Amino acid sequence: MQRRIFVSGLATALWLPSLARAAAPLAPNPFGLGVASGRPLPTSVVLWTRLVTADPAERPGGVIPVAWAIAEDEGMQKVVRSGEATAEPRWGHSVHIDVEGLWPNRPYWYRFTVQGKASPVGRTRTAPDAADPTAVLRFSFASCQQYEQGFYSAQRAIAEEELNAVLFVGDYIYETSWGRDHVRHHGAGRPTTLEEYRNRYALYKADADLQAAHAAHPWIVTWDDHEVVNDYANDTSPTDLDPKPFLAIRAAAYQAFWEHMPLSNKLKPEGPAFKLYDRYRFGDLAEITVIDDRQYRSPNACFPASYKDRYLVNCADRLDPARSMLGAEQEAWFADGMKRASTRWNLVAQQTLMTEADTGTGGVHRYWADGWDGYPMARQKLLDAVAASPTRDTLVLGGDVHSFWAADLKRDYADAKAPTVATEFVGGSITSQTPSDKATQMIVKLNPNIRYGRGDVNGYGIVALEAKKATVSFRTVKSVKEQNSPVETRVSFVVEAGQPGVKPA
Ligand code: FE
Ligand code: CA
Repeated sequence: MQRRIFVSGLATALWLPSLARAAAPLAPNPFGLGVASGRPLPTSVVLWTRLVTADPAERPGGVIPVAWAIAEDEGMQKVVRSGEATAEPRWGHSVHIDVEGLWPNRPYWYRFTVQGKASPVGRTRTAPDAADPTAVLRFSFASCQQYEQGFYSAQRAIAEEELNAVLFVGDYIYETSWGRDHVRHHGAGRPTTLEEYRNRYALYKADADLQAAHAAHPWIVTWDDHEVVNDYANDTSPTDLDPKPFLAIRAAAYQAFWEHMPLSNKLKPEGPAFKLYDRYRFGDLAEITVIDDRQYRSPNACFPASYKDRYLVNCADRLDPARSMLGAEQEAWFADGMKRASTRWNLVAQQTLMTEADTGTGGVHRYWADGWDGYPMARQKLLDAVAASPTRDTLVLGGDVHSFWAADLKRDYADAKAPTVATEFVGGSITSQTPSDKATQMIVKLNPNIRYGRGDVNGYGIVALEAKKATVSFRTVKSVKEQNSPVETRVSFVVEAGQPGVKPA
């Protein structure tokens, strides 16, 4: 297969005196943000890195050629594809390689070289061919890694797992400092410009444990709110009520996200628009539908009042069927995918808690405005599409709430006898501050559809799929306040094929 080699006339601009003056030399380790791979398809993966200077506030100058190679062995002896790409200033000197012509369902190792310096070797893995009988698949799912609040021991543990891919479902960075007992610092305020978002990603990605998780597995990513700003909905947020300046901030944030993730060159952000939702098939066993519930959603119900008090009580607007979470186009794409599904399991990787979690008491109903509970008709449409799928078994994997949850997703939350149409698991937070376990148990008690909840601990989930069952384990970190803290399996559940709903393992 012919690979694309990018040769740019701009490379010569590197030697122009005016640009040379502005150009800082690359750092002794130009790969200080690590290497990564993602978008694992049967015959292709994306390889990623980003070049840095010694001073993170400075940028390399001009267009810089970067060589890459992918091999069948860890020692990089059996190179199967290689080429040269360019790191361009306009994309933050990030490098994204769409490698094609690979074999399905096998590991590969890769490396970049710039100006005679080689990157660490990363490992990746292609997906099984769509038609291949596939006995077992394993994925981690995780979210929420506020840098100041803890160390990434959970990412170190994810690096050591045996996985087909890592699913990361949002809050990769945080825009603000908040919470207790910081172990390290952002050293800067809320980013609103492209340079400021780049610096925030660079800070997070300099972490060795996070780099280990990226270098060990291909990642499939979506975002939540903190990649832009807390609780934003489409073109506004509680802190940014005017869409015009906010869309400029969103454009900067989306570009920085693309620059720092192993995402395809073929899918780049355009201003404030970036189509992130996508679908991945892993043999005959699973299809993963990755959704974006931030970019296209309607404003919070009873907005802007609900932008102050984040809970909805007696808000009729909540039930307006016109209010959307995914936007019309993504909603139709989702329903179409569910209708055509033909694997044993559907996985939906998404950002926020999907199950109803009513926190009202004494006949009062109280719902969190920013999650699916603020968009119940949109959730109904999504679950109707799930129920209509020929694939009976759908697992929804989520994040955002900084706690662990296992829940039965009901066709109708108003009817206690309504069938369970899918099963939801939320895999805690990597470091972000948790709610108290007392508050969590109160929600479990009030909502019979919620079968398990756990606050007070950080970590991630592992889902292992087989033809007859899915096993989901929640792995928790002893303390995010210590580096290299041990991780243990706290609890496991099974979902039996053909019988949606949480069961103890
Ligand atoms: Fe979060
Ligand atoms: Ca969030």
